[in-house]
Parts: sequence; structure tokens; C-alpha cells
Amino acid sequence: MNRLNHRYDVLVVGAGPIGIYASLKLAAEGLRVLVVEEDAQIGKPRFCTGLISQEAFEEFHLPNKAIENEFRSFCVFSPSGLKLHLKDKTSIYATDRTVFDQSLYRLAKDAGVEFLLKCRCGMLKINNDGIEARVVFEERETIINAAVGILATGVKYALHKDVGFSLPPNFLDSSQAQVDGESGREIEIYLGNIVAPHSFAWVVPLKKNQLRIGLGTHRNSPIFLKSLLKKLRSQGRLKGGDFNIKRRLIPLGTIKNTYTDRILAVGDAAGQVKPTTGGGIYFGLLCADLAAKTVISAFKKNNFSKDFLRRYEVGWRKSIEFDLTMGLYLRKLVAKIDDAQMEELFGLCSQDSIRELIEKYWDFNHHGKFINKLIKRPEFWKGIYQMFTVKPGLDKI
Ligand SMILES: Cc1cc2nc3c(=O)[nH]c(=O)nc-3n(C[C@H](O)[C@H](O)[C@H](O)COP(=O)(O)OP(=O)(O)OC[C@H]3O[C@@H](n4cnc5c(N)ncnc54)[C@H](O)[C@@H]3O)c2cc1C
Repeated sequence: MNRLNHRYDVLVVGAGPIGIYASLKLAAEGLRVLVVEEDAQIGKPRFCTGLISQEAFEEFHLPNKAIENEFRSFCVFSPSGLKLHLKDKTSIYATDRTVFDQSLYRLAKDAGVEFLLKCRCGMLKINNDGIEARVVFEERETIINAAVGILATGVKYALHKDVGFSLPPNFLDSSQAQVDGESGREIEIYLGNIVAPHSFAWVVPLKKNQLRIGLGTHRNSPIFLKSLLKKLRSQGRLKGGDFNIKRRLIPLGTIKNTYTDRILAVGDAAGQVKPTTGGGIYFGLLCADLAAKTVISAFKKNNFSKDFLRRYEVGWRKSIEFDLTMGLYLRKLVAKIDDAQMEELFGLCSQDSIRELIEKYWDFNHHGKFINKLIKRPEFWKGIYQMFTVKPGLDKI
């Protein structure tokens, strides 16, 4: 067995955007950081729509080289095809996730982070004086020692049991394809149990007549996506017919504890994802920032105990738990309604007062505030009451 002959301050497992961002923040404070990544190249393969808000770019000083398109509005389609146009207060960018991850990687390397690619971590052990990671690198088993470990493994949870972490309680099955076709100016959202049961589908126009089309459901996402692509092609919107569909899980709900002695979990590995849309980049970056701050203060105090590292979890829950809880409630509500009830809900959202409320309080990153405002409106409860008590059509007799 090989052993890397130096001990790192921090070992980050996983070079997705969240692991890289955490490593960058740590190295900027002078810590010696190693990131191990099982894939051969940063940012490849990537299955992501890459929608990131202007606010996230500003808050985290993200490199804007990856931006492919900019949106100020989106169009929602009801199950029967009714349209609702909604404006955003700030821009939403579609980004190329390969370029995005690689730009962050270059910043991290410049800050002094070391990377080992094609290096899979197969085991993590917590000792009294540090952590020990068993990796396979250049076909040899190698031991890496560090004072602290950060798990940023995305939706791969094989190492969680080694350190006593639970798994996210639920997952969304998502599929996406990038296709040639007629690109519009808005993000399109499609609702309805025929398109994406208990969830929604999206069409994101990119430059050069390309579209990123995807959906999330509780199962069989590729089948639902194939039928949506077929429908869009029959409408003349898509070119070609050989669609390369990629499938991946999205965590719904966080793991129980994201800290233990000497180890923290961030990003999808911790389930820090918006339950409403499945977007994980903003919450992940926010939590990576908090994780890095916690680790930096742990080094200052020379205290890596779980009692000390608990402040990371307290911090991120304070920032996003409300959004997570409200988002999960909204998802549960949507899972209970059929298409006729969805039409009712859609009609409710099209009313001027609710529509104004959406446009005023909708925040791409924090959905809790908007949901909280919505449930305080009597029109909302009237609509919900009608949805669950009045059979469609009977109220109009
Ligand atoms: C179809 C789809 C569309 C999405 N669209 C959006 C969107 O528009 N906006 C948004 O904000 N979010 C979106 N998301 C979610 C977003 O992609 C994730 O939240 C984000 O990639 C999480 O980043 P991460 O760094 O935590 O994990 P990842 O990006 O998954 O990176 C984890 C890395 O860890 C590596 N790894 C795992 N285990 C090991 C190991 N044992 N050893 C070494 N390396 C390991 C993996 O190879 C991987 O490179 C989407 C997700 C899907 C599936």
C-alpha cells in the first residue's frame, strides 16, 4: 500500500462545483488542501441545466465565462396548455456546467489547491489525530492523511456509512437531453401528470438554436422525457430524433447530521438542494462557504471535535432550513393533486393579485419567503378549498 508522504490540512472528496468552491475558500486562508476526484476530467460528465441566478454570481464572485444565455422571464404551461408569463426581478443565467466547473477549478489551482484526478476514495476513517482516506490512484491503493475531511461527493453516498452519516430521505428521478431546435427567449415550465407526474418539465433555450430539456419525477423519468421530446418534435420545435437522454437522481431533503468529528458534508452529498426545483448550486455554494469558515476557525482553535463543528450545521440551517421546509411542503401538496386540481391552482395563480404576489416575492434562490407570503393570502386558501372540495365543472353549473 502506498502512502502520500505529506499530511494535508483538508482533504475534499469530490471535485464538483461545491467541493471545488470549499477548497478554494480554504486554500485562500493558507490551508494545504487536496481534492480527489474519481472522474478523469473536471466538469465531465455533467448532467445539469446550469441555471444560476445573477445574485449567486455576485454573492460568490463566480466566473462568468460559462454563461450561455440570460433570462428575465419564464412561461408556465398548465396541463391543458394555458400559459402564464412571469417576470423575474433579476437575471437568471443558463451556464455550461463543464466550463463553470473548470473555471472554478482554475481559480482553486491558482489559490494553491492540489488535485488528484482519476482518484477514487473508497474508504474514510476517523482517527484521534486526523482522518485517513483509502484511495485508488494510478491503479495503486494509496493512503492519504489529513486533519479534516469534506465530503462533496454529490449524489454518491458510498462513504457516508464510513463516517456515520445518513442518506437523504428521498430522491427525484431526473432526465435531461440537449437538443437542436428552435430556441425561444423564455424558460418554459410544463406542469401536469402526463408530462412529469407530481413535478414539472423544463425547456431552457441556449444560444445557437439549442435547448436543454428535462424533467424530474418519482420514477421512470427517461420514459416521460422521451414522450415530451416526441411531442415537441411533432410540433416542429426540435430537429433530429436521436436524443441522448441522461438520467440522474436529485436528493429531496437533507441528511440528518452534516458534521461529525473531523468531517463535514456539503452540497448534494448533504442534500442541500431546493426541493421545489431540484437546483443545488446556490445552496451548495452557500453551505460550502459556511463549511470553509467553520474549518478555518477549527484550525485557529485547534479543535476538530463534532461539538465544535456543529456550528456549521447550525449556520446552514439558519440560512436555508425555512426554504427547505416550505419547499418540501409545496412538493407534498403538488404530489397530492391531479391535473384538474392543478388547473384550478393554475387559475388561482393567474389571478392578478396572486400573480403580482409571485412577481413581487418570487426569489430564484429562496422560495420560503414567497411560499410564506402566499399562504397568508385568503385567495390562496379559497383556491385550495375549491381544489379539494369542488369537482371541476360543478362550481360553474
Ligand atoms: C438534470 C439536472 C438538472 C439540474 N439543473 C440544475 C440547475 O439548473 N441549477 C442548479 O442550481 N442545480 C441544478 N441541478 C443540481 C446540480 O447539478 C447539483 O446540485 C450540483 O451539481 C451539486 O454539486 P456537488 O459538487 O455537490 O456534486 P456533483 O456536481 O455531483 O460533484 C460531485 C463529484 O464528486 C465525485 N465523487 C463522488 N464520489 C467520489 C469518490 N468516492 N471519490 C472521488 N470522487 C468522488 C463525482 O465524480 C463528482 O465529480 C440539476 C441536477 C440535475 C440532475
